[in-house]
Amino acid sequence: MKDSFLRVLLLDASNGFYKIVRYKVGDFFGPVDLGLHLAGKYNSLNIGTGLTAGSILPGSNRLIVSGFSPCWGGYYVSTMGGAGLVFDNLGINMISIVNKAQSPSVFYLNREHGEEIEVEVNPVDLKNVWKSGREGTYGLMDHIYEEYGNRFATEPRVLSTGMASLQTDFGAICSAPIKKGEVTNIDTWAGRGGFGSKMLREHNIAGIIYGGTYVDDDFRDRKVADVWFQDRYDQRMAAKDIEATIKYRFDPKFKTGGTFGVNFATVGGRIIAFNYNSMYWDESERLKLHENFIVNHYLKQFNEETIAKKQQRNCGEPCAAVCKKLNDHYKKDFEPYQTMGPLCGIFDQRAAEQVNNHADRLGFDAISIGGVLSWLMECLSKKYLTKEELAVSDIPVFSLENFELLRDSDKNAAIAIELMDAIVHRRGKLNLSEGARKFGRVMSRGKKVNLLDYFVFTSFGRKGWMVPNQYWTPGVLSPMAIMGKYYMYYGDEFLAPRELGQTNALRLKQELIIDNLGFCRFHRGWAEEMLPDIVDKLFGLKDTFLGNIEITASRINSRNASVFWESERNFDFIHTFIKRQKEVKGANSKHIDYWLGYFEKDKKQAAMDFWYDIHKGVHEELREF
Ligand code: SF4
Repeated sequence: MKDSFLRVLLLDASNGFYKIVRYKVGDFFGPVDLGLHLAGKYNSLNIGTGLTAGSILPGSNRLIVSGFSPCWGGYYVSTMGGAGLVFDNLGINMISIVNKAQSPSVFYLNREHGEEIEVEVNPVDLKNVWKSGREGTYGLMDHIYEEYGNRFATEPRVLSTGMASLQTDFGAICSAPIKKGEVTNIDTWAGRGGFGSKMLREHNIAGIIYGGTYVDDDFRDRKVADVWFQDRYDQRMAAKDIEATIKYRFDPKFKTGGTFGVNFATVGGRIIAFNYNSMYWDESERLKLHENFIVNHYLKQFNEETIAKKQQRNCGEPCAAVCKKLNDHYKKDFEPYQTMGPLCGIFDQRAAEQVNNHADRLGFDAISIGGVLSWLMECLSKKYLTKEELAVSDIPVFSLENFELLRDSDKNAAIAIELMDAIVHRRGKLNLSEGARKFGRVMSRGKKVNLLDYFVFTSFGRKGWMVPNQYWTPGVLSPMAIMGKYYMYYGDEFLAPRELGQTNALRLKQELIIDNLGFCRFHRGWAEEMLPDIVDKLFGLKDTFLGNIEITASRINSRNASVFWESERNFDFIHTFIKRQKEVKGANSKHIDYWLGYFEKDKKQAAMDFWYDIHKGVHEELREF
């Protein structure tokens, strides 16, 4: 048995005191179930790795952040590629932060071989550091590395936050691998859930540097792993992993790779653009947009600049998927380049690079800020909000009519950047400190329209909000206890809502296997089914592990405070999806006919019943017996 205890360093940020607490493997298995326990007890911010971090298993070094999310309002899990590999050198499984430092600070953790972990919490002149060098999250990352880097025997890793973490509830945590004494440009993010805001606003921790040389008995026997894979797949581990990660590296079927390449190559008539207005168009118009703006330009640029030149790296762990697709220092993932691309009326790489880079420097959760920007831009273009209210100098071009690709992408990008600056500097009436939902509510007072009707988001509790993943399918708007990541079913076919709820619940459990063991979900092609067996081989606890997944899923769901959709556009999102299934895909079923007829008769009531049916399905699958 490799590890019989999960070791947690519990830090009191108010005074720098810490203690190590041990939890038996079997009672808990990883950063999600233990994070849930600690968050419930202390409202802590938990950052940790899975049991097999540092092992030979590909994808096992994800860093998992958990706690009660400031923007979502419920327990949340956010993950970051590769940052668990260096964390493993501390010889612990998790850090758990409680209370608040006196002023913005850097949390330093270093461990030399078998020594005690050195822990410090030191103040940082955050406002000036954010203005220095590469600025923002990058400036802070560089500054922390310069200040502390030489105290590490091996290359450490730095987590950093930006102004979005101070001024909004959806600031992200940024990190990039350090190689040969340089912070690389391969930034990785714990974006969703606003844990940067939690770290900074609730704990006054602006950044963390960690590393060391501690070596434990990580599983590194490739021959043994090959036997496991051979038994199951008749393939060695590396061969199976290469097969399972093809989309993220290069898929010859589509002559492109990575989430950006494959998703934009295949999205076709499911493309979402101009703050979801594309869902009201005819299929032929969407296909035209896809062909002219995406395939022949946005994707073409990506394929020429990134794929053909093989500008691809890994996240910090030696991984054959090399999913980090770059153009110089711009990293291209589908969802950020979708929300701060077509969703904002931007279809050119140069323009999208500027917007994405700006959002990253300010440290926003990229998907959420893209959703907020596109909403504000539509409100501006429809005159529901004024330039003065949003402190911008121009009105976006927000329809396809006479849209000139380069000129108007540029114009929209400039406005998106102005909006982000206005948010972090609190210009005009832009105050997102308590999130977009509350902002929308407040700003709608005295207006003829409810601004939230134009914002696609899911609601949780009183103030919780989340911009959905960028797939035009009802699963992304499901009333699950954690939304905004893939704890739901996002396939393209129509499932009756009750069945969708049940399928979401099953997906949650599968994803928990991956997250609770600290794995990268891009390896799920083998990891979901193999990991319980691997837990068995290493710890002899397969049944306990699977039982724990059931219980963790139901406990997460027991706090499910999802609120019925507050946006008319959400209703339309579901309605147009069903319509497209029937009219474009020719799908035929009594469920489709029923829901389509219902939405056409009374979309609000239909939406409410649809929502409740998903909810029922979720709950009937996630009961704790
Ligand atoms: S698929 Fe990408 S994010 Fe996942 S481990 Fe490999 S390089 Fe890192």
